[in-house]
Amino acid sequence: MRKHSRHLKRKRKKKFNIYFICIFVFFISVIGVGFYFYCMDGKDHCSEKIKRAKEHLNKKSEIQEKKTPLPKYNEKLDVSNDGRLVGAMPESANQHGYSSLKVWEILQSNYFPPLEDKKTIFLTFDDGPSGNTEEILAVLSKYKIKATFFVTGSAVQHNPVKLKKIYEEGHALGNHTFSHVFSILYPGGVLNFLNFNNEIEQTEKQIQFVLGESFYTRSIRCPGGSMSWQGMDSLFEDFKNKGLASIDWNAVNGDAEGGLKTASELVNKCKETAKYGINVILMHDKDEKSETVKALPEIIEYYLHQGYQFKILI
Ligand SMILES: [Zn+2]
Repeated sequence: MRKHSRHLKRKRKKKFNIYFICIFVFFISVIGVGFYFYCMDGKDHCSEKIKRAKEHLNKKSEIQEKKTPLPKYNEKLDVSNDGRLVGAMPESANQHGYSSLKVWEILQSNYFPPLEDKKTIFLTFDDGPSGNTEEILAVLSKYKIKATFFVTGSAVQHNPVKLKKIYEEGHALGNHTFSHVFSILYPGGVLNFLNFNNEIEQTEKQIQFVLGESFYTRSIRCPGGSMSWQGMDSLFEDFKNKGLASIDWNAVNGDAEGGLKTASELVNKCKETAKYGINVILMHDKDEKSETVKALPEIIEYYLHQGYQFKILI
């Protein structure tokens, strides 16, 4: 009797275990299938989101392309085909201008023979307009020399009257980004394409706000020089597609190197480095660079005496 009831108990226990295992397997299956569908759903949401983002980006770049159609350059007139100005006032561009696209090629070639048999200087002033702009303009005016000013959008914002004066006195303008802040333009030493292009666009708008929408410049000077950063190839490709030129330099007066230099040190540095047939000289139009202004007459006289012509980048 006892034996029989033990047998019954074992049988019930066994039955219970089978039920328990079945229920357990059932729940695991339900959870598994549910999880699978949840994941699939998530994936779909995810891929849908990426698809939508891509569509949005494509639309955005289409809009941007439509918004800023860059006109084709007319070499003869030094104005664009749709009548927009290039870099400087038309009279000055015709008389003193030289294609920045060609100068970009020359600077890349590392071979600097005289330009059309004439030894040539391009004086370039970066970072302005500043508290020194008017003095620089006065020196240039005295010698009837034209120069190229690579302005930042933020400086233009603060000195619109000075920008107008630069332009009206027949000098050329180039775009030197808006903020000039390396960590925005090249975080970690690598180009941020979007930030850089946004700043070029903002600066162009800022210049146009002062000079009118018919103005635009093809000359871009990358802050710190285009050779100092990684990932610039995409930018150069973009410049080529838009008809823009990256203008570095092959000579300096040294006003941005090391500590403050005296005017005579700047003159010497310029004579040492600007000794080619074609020279793009880097100088600065900044509040603290007053020695640059003092050195300018001697630099101009030295090169005039050597028979150089002075050109502007358009
Ligand atoms: Zn600069």
